[in-house]
Amino acid sequence: MPERNLQSTLNSVCDNGTSTRADVEFLLAQGDRDSTRRIMHAADEVRSRYVGDGIVLRGIIEFSNYCRNTCAYCGLNTFNTNLARYRMTREQILESVGNIAEAGIKTVVLQSGEDRDLDPFWLAQVIEDIKDKFDMAVTLSVGEWSEDDYRLWRQAGGDRYLLKIETTNPTLYGLLHPGMSFEDRLRCLGDLKSLGYQTGSGSIVGLRNQTCGDLARDIVFFKEQDFDMLGIGPFIPHHRTPLADEPQGDLGLTLRTLSLARILTKDTHLPATTAVGVAGSGDAVRSALAAGANVVMLNFTPPAYKRFYEIYPGKDDSAHSSGQIIKEIETIAHTLGRYVSLSRADSLKQRNENMLQKQTLVREN
Ligand code: SF4
Repeated sequence: MPERNLQSTLNSVCDNGTSTRADVEFLLAQGDRDSTRRIMHAADEVRSRYVGDGIVLRGIIEFSNYCRNTCAYCGLNTFNTNLARYRMTREQILESVGNIAEAGIKTVVLQSGEDRDLDPFWLAQVIEDIKDKFDMAVTLSVGEWSEDDYRLWRQAGGDRYLLKIETTNPTLYGLLHPGMSFEDRLRCLGDLKSLGYQTGSGSIVGLRNQTCGDLARDIVFFKEQDFDMLGIGPFIPHHRTPLADEPQGDLGLTLRTLSLARILTKDTHLPATTAVGVAGSGDAVRSALAAGANVVMLNFTPPAYKRFYEIYPGKDDSAHSSGQIIKEIETIAHTLGRYVSLSRADSLKQRNENMLQKQTLVREN
């Protein structure tokens, strides 16, 4: 069998459709700086070709930190009784959405733990209010619910939904998520897609007992599922979880995972996640953007609540204004030869599918 070579394997992965999971696994395992740089460079070219140079901004509001689950990596897990819990009111949410609109951003992400006291009809009303008052895409990220609840929120105007698979290794998934099931997760993702949500998923990189083979399977799963968005970030230990003493996920491996997800999925929206910023030094967000990412999330949770939404420690709870943060991102964009985009940035997959359909119709006539 010929010896695998980084450049030929990278070419094969970039060359649509000829790659195998083994190729992706091989590339993920190349931990030296030069290999990481070359994989990132290839991903950046794919990003430029399929997504363009805009760095899209989204505003996120973490409106409730109640959660019934016990995910082993998450500081919001229900056993963390040291955490003060909050749930924002409808008025507080609308005020925060107003701040996002004022900053010129056209997408709001409403995120919470899996808050079982959250009334689905209340959330539907919040979505309707946002749609009435603002010209804004609404993304939900509130966990696993019934198909009827997902339908209710879709009919209220929900455009997008984020539900990370975290890992496609069912054994690892079971260990990390006591009381939850991998099949339920897949069922939820299937429901969301069939209801017409622009659907996002994603994974954690650097968990104990997670191999490059597992990460390669994640990336191939993302490609097969054709998700509209993917959030990929490193594992960061939280002191009030069972994984408190585990080492943090490796930033280089996270960047290679992000890059290979870009190369395989082409036109998916990929954020430079907050976790990447926490795990790396000051320019980790820049590195993620250079590795294929095209989205940055800005946190508009009111300062009084922000520090209590601690999935992992180290999240930015500074009082920097959105204007200051947007300026910082503009500076980063400038150094990368790119620009900040305030567009809605709907799914590129749906747009490209529509274009293909139109081209086919024109040809047929
Ligand atoms: S990851 Fe989500 S579902 Fe799991 S404990 Fe944290 S907030 Fe709850």
